[in-house]
Amino acid sequence: MTDNIFKKHNLRITDIRKEVLDCFVQSDIALSHSDIELLLFKEYDRVTIYRTLNSFLEKGILHKVFDDSGVAKFALCKYDCNEHQHNDNHVHFKCEVCSKVICFHDMQIPHLPVLKGFSIHHINLLVQGVCPECQVQ
Ligand SMILES: [Zn+2]
Ligand SMILES: [Zn+2]
Ligand SMILES: [Zn+2]
Repeated sequence: MTDNIFKKHNLRITDIRKEVLDCFVQSDIALSHSDIELLLFKEYDRVTIYRTLNSFLEKGILHKVFDDSGVAKFALCKYDCNEHQHNDNHVHFKCEVCSKVICFHDMQIPHLPVLKGFSIHHINLLVQGVCPECQVQ
């Protein structure tokens, strides 16, 4: 599966790229740099991981997820994102108990009216609550 992603986005396959992408493919939550460091099989230096994440961002493979922690998190793009444009206008959810951040890919952020004199480049919508796993039965 990851081979196809690299092909589609015209990215050469390297060990680290493959490993990092695998982490995202196998995860249903958004991952931070340190999450990835823990998940990686081999040890890579921080800069290499950072560069890999950035190239995925640029190519439209990953998108940045903003939560209230100030830590940059990333998640796989599900739409037709490419190096020119990201189309990830969906809602993100953060669990207040386990701090997991999840993409609600099917929940699009509604169109907002543009105010005169302003141009909007990014819209982030974070919904906070309790995830199913943390619900008290
Ligand atoms: Zn994207
Ligand atoms: Zn939770
Ligand atoms: Zn997302």
